[in-house]
Amino acid sequence: CGIVGYLGNHEAAPILVDALKRLEYRGYDSAGIATVHGGRLERRRAVGKLVNLSDRLVHEPLAGKSGIGHTRWATHGAPSEVNAHPHYTGRVAVVHNGIIENFRALREELAAAGIATETDTDTETVALLTHHHMSQGKSPVEAAHAALDRLEGAFALAFLFDGEEDLMVAARKGSPLAIGHGEGEMYVGSDAIALAPLTDKITYLEEGDRAVLTRTSLEIRDHQGRLANRPTKTVALDA
Ligand code: GLU
Repeated sequence: CGIVGYLGNHEAAPILVDALKRLEYRGYDSAGIATVHGGRLERRRAVGKLVNLSDRLVHEPLAGKSGIGHTRWATHGAPSEVNAHPHYTGRVAVVHNGIIENFRALREELAAAGIATETDTDTETVALLTHHHMSQGKSPVEAAHAALDRLEGAFALAFLFDGEEDLMVAARKGSPLAIGHGEGEMYVGSDAIALAPLTDKITYLEEGDRAVLTRTSLEIRDHQGRLANRPTKTVALDA
């Protein structure tokens, strides 16, 4: 239901939880964040209110200066911790808004390749597919793109990778996604309101766009893979 992302020079976890709070009005049943620290992805998730996630982070903190976060409104699979996002495979973490319509077919393909699913969500197939392409030698960006090529339905997605502290992939089809620009920092939000106190410089992804972000760069390609020049706007939003 809500997506946030951060690549920067500050601890990501508090920034992500704060940004998720600004999306609470949309409703959700569970929440989670993942960060990369020392090259390793780690995640924390909790069912119910965001305060359950922040409580958990007090006892089990997550370090790292890059991360993604999610508030989930379950469409496929019960609202449980196992089904909460980010979905993580050991190499890639994914947060997703929307529905992957062909997830059952993708799940069967994965099963045929000996890859089992552990959740009831449509989202997990995106993470497993990306992981599968990485195992076959593709770079994280190539693997995410190869997975995106296979998806039908409506989605906003953000990907984070093991061993990559300065890289995020984001994509939009049928579900909005905004990129926020800071000083040596980059943000992602399913709604610019999530980013309001952090930056007012926003690039909105257009339908079918895929973005590759680092702390200091943003490259956007359209649905045909052509480099796209999307305007960066200064938006007035009350924090
Ligand atoms: N379809 C996904 C799920 O049920 C994402 C739902 C959402 O947009 O929060 O996990």
